[in-house]
Amino acid sequence: MQKLLLLGDEAIAQGAIDAGLSGIYAYPGTPSTEITEYVMHSKEAKSGKVVASWGANEKTAMEAALGMSYAGKRAMVCMKHVGLNVAADAFVNSAITGANGGLVVVAADDPSMHSSQNEQDSRFYGKFALIPILEPGNQQEAYDMVHYGFDLSEKYGIPVMLRITTRLAHSRSGVALKESRVQNEIRLPENLRQFILLPANARRQYKHLLTNQAAFISASGASPFNKLTDHKDKSIGIIACGLAYNYLVENFPGHEVPHPVLRIGQYPLPEKMVRDLYDSCDSLLVLEDGYPLVEELIRGFLNNGKPVRGRLDGTVPRDGELNPNIVARALGLADTRGRDIPAIVSSRPPSLCKGCPHIYSYNALNEALASLSKGRVFSDIGCYTLGALEPFDAINSCVDMGASITMAKGAADAGLVPAVAVIGDSTFTHSGMTGLLDAVISKSPITVMILDNATTAMTGGQNSAAVGKIEDICLAIGVEKEHIRILNPLQKHHEENLRIMMEEIAYPGVSVVIPRRECIQTAARRLREEKKKQETSKAEA
Ligand code: SF4
Repeated sequence: MQKLLLLGDEAIAQGAIDAGLSGIYAYPGTPSTEITEYVMHSKEAKSGKVVASWGANEKTAMEAALGMSYAGKRAMVCMKHVGLNVAADAFVNSAITGANGGLVVVAADDPSMHSSQNEQDSRFYGKFALIPILEPGNQQEAYDMVHYGFDLSEKYGIPVMLRITTRLAHSRSGVALKESRVQNEIRLPENLRQFILLPANARRQYKHLLTNQAAFISASGASPFNKLTDHKDKSIGIIACGLAYNYLVENFPGHEVPHPVLRIGQYPLPEKMVRDLYDSCDSLLVLEDGYPLVEELIRGFLNNGKPVRGRLDGTVPRDGELNPNIVARALGLADTRGRDIPAIVSSRPPSLCKGCPHIYSYNALNEALASLSKGRVFSDIGCYTLGALEPFDAINSCVDMGASITMAKGAADAGLVPAVAVIGDSTFTHSGMTGLLDAVISKSPITVMILDNATTAMTGGQNSAAVGKIEDICLAIGVEKEHIRILNPLQKHHEENLRIMMEEIAYPGVSVVIPRRECIQTAARRLREEKKKQETSKAEA
């Protein structure tokens, strides 16, 4: 049996390829990005056997995966947790249409917000959509769960969510591979009306989804990923979800936990196992990364007096990711923490790369606004969000993908004129375009600065859907041609860039300023690859 050393993300990608994947769709977002990148670099994708593609945003990626599933093939869609908010319309409705070919939706959560705006828990979305959720506890399970998830999806004709967290996505372990299996043939749904969510069909489909809930619960009861282990000390029973199981066992010699433990890797909750644990113990402790989803559920359906502890009562902190020390404290064990973090690994604030084009854009913007009151610049999500830090202190908001333009419009509607939006090229095509349309319709007095570095830089330089199209899009949306201005963000063009920015900020309508220069990291990578290609073709000649 072949074994590979894989990141959690890579284990999911390899699992999908080996399980007969036909297509993977995604918008890059930490910590999910490496799943799609791994498939893109695979021989299966390079030979055209598997489609691997970045979408303009998570919703388009979700819909493309649903289309592939409609055609009977196995599809995966990947996103970070906040990306699921963007895909939510298609995602929740996909539970009603159902799946035809296996459809696995990977949502990568980021408890402790290592690189995110919040730490929302995607399991709530899976529960909200009423679909099965899988949550691996290690890289091997992540690999195995993809096979299992496709089978579960095809058995019940339902999308399946695979929920992971940063710690699993970005840590490495040996993974034993299974036999790879062939892709599905194209096969249309037996019921050709299944994917038409007109009310009459949607009602029927929704009832079908509700009827299937009992089957999903019983599948959880029989799942190889849910396991109840009995032990002598019944003063407390422990429910450990996904990765939390590892944090639990690390506190005991030989990983032997003296209390009964219910390990959860599949939802909806296996109700009988939960009840058996509850009935046999004096109290319960729930360990879960993210929100207190399981704790809330069991407090609801087991409410007969025994204490249920976890994040809700403060036994476990309400926010942040779990670790073995937090679990030790929750169990009343000695806290093994005690060593200070050496200065060399203490956290340092991130900063723009030396020579990053955004530096020159912010220098010009700050100077252009110097004579006005502060607090007029609405930003978006990307490397340029670092403009909030010193020495720039150039932006005043960062809320969600696309919010810069619409927030600037709202502020201008309130009378904060001029107002400026700062957005990257990839974020603009992700969800900024519709906001620009709103501003054009309202003739809002805003200046939109689209920082075009020809890539999705923050997540490592993936393709941006905007490359070569920004001016055409702005024109088509209705921005006046003479108020779409291109700048070259370099120090030597500072005076000219400043003059153009000041002209457009003074314009009492929608103007777009596009500072354009390739991200220096992407440019360096491109030049390295070009050189390598030249050397290879020279050697072959
Ligand atoms: S990765 Fe590119 S865009 Fe991001 S800070 Fe560095 S140079 Fe700037």
